[in-house]
Amino acid sequence: MTYKMTPDIVHALVEWFHHNKRVMPWRGETDPYKIWVSEIMLQQTQVSTVIPYYERWMDAFPKLSHVAETSLQDILKMWEGLGYYTRARNLYRGAVYIINVLNGKFPGTREGLMKIPGIGPYTSAAIASIAYNQPYGVVDGNVSRVMARLYRIGEVTSSARFKETVTDLVNQSLTWGAPRWVNQAWMELGALVCTPRPSCSACPLESFCEVRQHLCVENYPVRPNRKKSPVREGAIFLFPF
Ligand code: SF4
Repeated sequence: MTYKMTPDIVHALVEWFHHNKRVMPWRGETDPYKIWVSEIMLQQTQVSTVIPYYERWMDAFPKLSHVAETSLQDILKMWEGLGYYTRARNLYRGAVYIINVLNGKFPGTREGLMKIPGIGPYTSAAIASIAYNQPYGVVDGNVSRVMARLYRIGEVTSSARFKETVTDLVNQSLTWGAPRWVNQAWMELGALVCTPRPSCSACPLESFCEVRQHLCVENYPVRPNRKKSPVREGAIFLFPF
């Protein structure tokens, strides 16, 4: 089945976003280094937790070269309490790579970004789109949930087909707005309105939403079946003493 994004949906989404987006220190930022740091800190971590860490980080290392010039110990100290320390190590490795191998020049393409140690498909799409306004869809769990409901996508979320469908829809949506804002708008809608317990009556996409029209919000997204615990069958023998 082919799903089609429409300009009406994107315009309603972006208008809602411009009136309702949360204030964040990296919002509106176009410096790829700052977008990179914010995206890495936000992995598995809530926005409210990240904000003070981000601000402290930028006070200490306002430029990428400051990261590369410091020691890994100092980087890990700065990260203390944020968890998932591999993220800090990768940021450090990536910064050293850009300074030493790329002569301090941040790559301007997604392909170039993917060559930086620790930057994969998700982070490269986020940097290319938010910093450079390039048309790469950024698909996280929030965006997947919104699309699954908006289009009543029947495939399970773990399937390659589901991921391809969602990525295609997000990519289509970038045609009708600035990629940097459209991508952030999908993420924000998933974080604030189309949450696991959605607030459909406050949603700018309510009139377009398939699951809302079919009154089946609770069935989407379609999660893979959890493996049932094996049922052990057998007899219990009781021995009289
Ligand atoms: S109407 Fe409800 S289910 Fe549909 S996109 Fe909006 S919040 Fe999500």
